[in-house]
Amino acid sequence: MSTTSHDPAGSGYVPADLPRRIQHYIDGELVDSADGASFDVLDPVSNATYVQAAAGGKAEIDRAVAAARRAFTEGPWPRLLPRERSRVLHRVADLVESRDARLAELESFDSGLPITQALGQARRAAENFRFFADLVVAQTDDTFKVPGRQINYVNRKPIGVAGLITPWNTPFMLESWKLGPALATGNTVVLKPAEFTPLSASLWAEIFEEAGLPRGVFNLVNGLGEEAGDALVKHPDVPLISFTGESSTGQLIFANAAPYLKGLSMELGGKSPAIVFADADLDAAVDATIFGVFSLNGERCTAGSRILVQREIYDEFVARYATQAEAVRVGYPHDAATEVGALVHPEHYEKVMAYIQIGKTEARLVAGGGRPHGFATGNFVAPTVFADVPPTARIFQEEIFGPVVAITPFDTEAEALELANDTRYGLAAYVWTNDLKRAHNVAQAVEAGMVWLNSNNVRDLRTPFGGVKASGLGHEGGYRSIDFYTDQQAVHITLGQVHNPTFGKAADGDRGH
Ligand code: NAD
Repeated sequence: MSTTSHDPAGSGYVPADLPRRIQHYIDGELVDSADGASFDVLDPVSNATYVQAAAGGKAEIDRAVAAARRAFTEGPWPRLLPRERSRVLHRVADLVESRDARLAELESFDSGLPITQALGQARRAAENFRFFADLVVAQTDDTFKVPGRQINYVNRKPIGVAGLITPWNTPFMLESWKLGPALATGNTVVLKPAEFTPLSASLWAEIFEEAGLPRGVFNLVNGLGEEAGDALVKHPDVPLISFTGESSTGQLIFANAAPYLKGLSMELGGKSPAIVFADADLDAAVDATIFGVFSLNGERCTAGSRILVQREIYDEFVARYATQAEAVRVGYPHDAATEVGALVHPEHYEKVMAYIQIGKTEARLVAGGGRPHGFATGNFVAPTVFADVPPTARIFQEEIFGPVVAITPFDTEAEALELANDTRYGLAAYVWTNDLKRAHNVAQAVEAGMVWLNSNNVRDLRTPFGGVKASGLGHEGGYRSIDFYTDQQAVHITLGQVHNPTFGKAADGDRGH
């Protein structure tokens, strides 16, 4: 049985001063939907509705896009010096940092993330703003000289209204990841956060106002994906959509955006392999692969949810892994000792539990396998480990997005690669070996947008982030984000003689009839 933290006040915990209603934020005003529609927001420990959020549709998206468009065409934001925008973004980072405890408290309550991990995510959100605030002042653009004849330079411009659509896992941090570069480069935005977790997003309005962001630059519309999200994707005045979410939603958005030829950035699902060779540092590999799938409740796009282990160490690895997984502390999200909290929503909980049942018919259960001891209600799942998982199993192929891991043995490097690449996804991969050549050869051959060698998922903000295959399209991160949110207009200037092949000056007698 998993270790559990028993807190007598546990399921009754509610942060002080919760909002009484979550509204949209359009053109500097908190507003309800025109038709008064709203949806229930639940907390994942009691699964009771704790607040109503305004449910936006086409009317609210139209208003928000009009405000953002006005702020873009008439307002100061796109025309400010990068240094001036940077100052505002640094103030945003300062405010986020100064409110990190409150942010984490609300995020943890709304999403079920353990409080210590929610705090880390709040600080990362501040760091995202700081990073892009610095990057736009350091930004240089290309100039190409043709000696004596021509000079060509890149005039980098913001594009317009960026539509940002985000998922419910680490919602505030993932919003910052898009807001930071979109705003730093001078665009205006409409954010449509995930409907399971609208609470932390509602804090942005106040933060941006206090930081001095001009009115209309940031707009927020809450609502369902099929309504508010869909209207944003299909709005003709929104030339960019940055989307993070499930691969199937990404496919739908891709099709819906096609008639408008929008710029799309797609950060989608994953089923990332962690490959552990027999020569690896086993202590580090076990710790990292435990953290890799059970941190953030396993609701993590880059989770190492398939562990491939070389046969020589397979039995030892599985035994140690199962023992450690059993000891992972499941607990109430607000408890600082909690390592795995409650899954975000009962619908998602049912999905993860259904996969656990499927796994029991496909492989050998070695840890967890259901509701943890001591938690009769709420979306709690014991860290669950399946061993001897065949590559044809659904729990090997499909993204579960919870604290569930599949372990599979392999014999050779070639077999490890074949297994690693045998899914539709290609987001991250983790390789554990002390053989230098093998580490690089496997890293370069694995079909993944990001690879970590002998490391957990520790990401330098300058590096590209993104997946291949069904895990995404395009890269964000560092300068790639700047490229996505800007147009690089080429300006060509003649320096010497005008290079003019002459048409239309032939002598009259030469003219044909
Ligand atoms: P989801 O696809 O269900 O929803 C994501 C967002 O899209 C939500 O805001 C939702 O309202 C909106 N949406 C849904 N249907 C829409 C439509 N038809 N048009 C426009 N918007 C629509 O994803 P989720 O369940 O919230 O998030 C979990 C998924 O996100 C997982 O698959 C995970 O791997 C992925 N994810 C990927 C990354 C990455 O960077 N690659 C990061 C985090 C999460």
